[in-house]
Amino acid sequence: MSESKERSYSRRRRGGRLFRCQCCGQEQPFCWSCPCGFQICDRCFVENKWGISNGPTWICPDCGRIRMM
Ligand SMILES: [Zn+2]
Ligand SMILES: [Zn+2]
Repeated sequence: MSESKERSYSRRRRGGRLFRCQCCGQEQPFCWSCPCGFQICDRCFVENKWGISNGPTWICPDCGRIRMM
């Protein structure tokens, strides 16, 4: 369980829009995302690549949509 300091350290950076990885739950400057709303950061993506990616595409674990990398 890693539900510790939520929002305590996340300030807005230049009004930029941050993603929130649904795998690790942290805000990230970039996430792979799906139209269904699923987002996963690059780090988690690489860790789970064997499970969700197949060459130039990856499959959203939420809706099963095939996404281009
Ligand atoms: Zn993540
Ligand atoms: Zn999806």
